Amino acid sequence: MNLIFFSIKTKGIHNFARRLVTVFTRFGFTEIPTRRALRTVVDTLQAYQASPTFFIPAVILERHLALLAEIAGYGAEIGIHGYVHNDYRTLSAREQYLQTEKAINVFRKTNIPFLGFRNPYLGWTEESVEVFSQLGFTYDSNDAILHDVVDLSEFSLLLQSGFQKSLKLFQAVPCGYYVLRPYFSGKLLRIPISIPDDEMLFDRLRITNVQVGGVWSGIMRCIYDLGGLYTLNLHPERVTLCKSALQTLLATSREQALPVWVTSLKDVAAWWKERNQFRWRIVSQSSDRWLVEAKCTSRATLVARNVVVEGSTTIPWFKDDVQVEADTFTVRSIHCPFIGVSPQSPQEIDDFLYEQGYPFVRCSSDDAQRYAYYLDMPEGLGMTREERLARKSKLVHLIETLDAPLVYFGCWPDGRRAALSITGDIDSVTIQDFFLRISEVLSR
Ligand SMILES: [Zn+2]
Repeated sequence: MNLIFFSIKTKGIHNFARRLVTVFTRFGFTEIPTRRALRTVVDTLQAYQASPTFFIPAVILERHLALLAEIAGYGAEIGIHGYVHNDYRTLSAREQYLQTEKAINVFRKTNIPFLGFRNPYLGWTEESVEVFSQLGFTYDSNDAILHDVVDLSEFSLLLQSGFQKSLKLFQAVPCGYYVLRPYFSGKLLRIPISIPDDEMLFDRLRITNVQVGGVWSGIMRCIYDLGGLYTLNLHPERVTLCKSALQTLLATSREQALPVWVTSLKDVAAWWKERNQFRWRIVSQSSDRWLVEAKCTSRATLVARNVVVEGSTTIPWFKDDVQVEADTFTVRSIHCPFIGVSPQSPQEIDDFLYEQGYPFVRCSSDDAQRYAYYLDMPEGLGMTREERLARKSKLVHLIETLDAPLVYFGCWPDGRRAALSITGDIDSVTIQDFFLRISEVLSR
């Protein structure tokens, strides 16, 4: 299927015609408008001691290497967005492998470092995850999380249908505690991305700049409450339109009671790998005293809930939880501030609890009453992707809202409550690139 048919199918004929008009207003025949847009994002984030992550198809990188090297030189991270801008869902596993390898080879020749992959149209498949693992990527950024922040009934049926087409295309899941966290699939880290993005709001629903800032800020507040990661996708072609919306979002991230980590995806990936090694140990000292030891780096956020902490200073953290400063401390509590796990629960439950930062001990049901919570999941986390997602989400929600004594590792380093990554897909740099995409996708 060529790009025109694909675009008409996903955007609708009306939106496609509109898109053609906007291409000429947002891109130039030279690199100047895109350079300005990329610099705007880099400069805006500098005020937050942060850098953006841009993804670009290899053929576009090759065509505009000096520009991308310049942007990377300003501290932006560059990731791979396919060899050409095509949908991997139309490719076999072998074709996905060969095209990804081809993209890697182009990137290697340019000496621009890369760690991550984002699929055009977020069109990943189970085979893609395997391919990215085999080819040594550190992470992918494709799992779309939908935030219910727009009342669709306020829009015309035509606009609603355009929005619905995007939703279908992005295979999004509803937002919650668990889905807003990165997770490992083998060695590959999967970093979620939140929607609606700039295209859905500006081009599909035609919301104005001020409203977009409000929508993104609403998403930020929700993600802050859930302690997750907000990965925003802001295409450089809409940066001029979205400039004040971006500033509103960043200001909202700074207004929260606890700090929000504004950072690039490569730093999220490095942190999640570091955090994945953290472990808890506990020793009972008497009927209501527990010696707790966290094996972790100095960046870890140690949190305690519903207990009296001795041997360390604590500072207020999210809601009634406190952040504990020492990595060894004593807890006064009748119940052990750990999760008890039944002997029948499979090993994958341990792995899952480790990754989520929750402390646990294996124990029989006779001892269940001693613990903050007793987990008995002989059926494990499930077989299908949907089943696993549902059970993991339910479990993390349960633990996060547990009203019982508990210690745990916060998701983000140095006491931060949530994280925000500003990313953008550079699908085209110039008008020529936009039209060359049609032949590139056809001749791949
Ligand atoms: Zn793209």
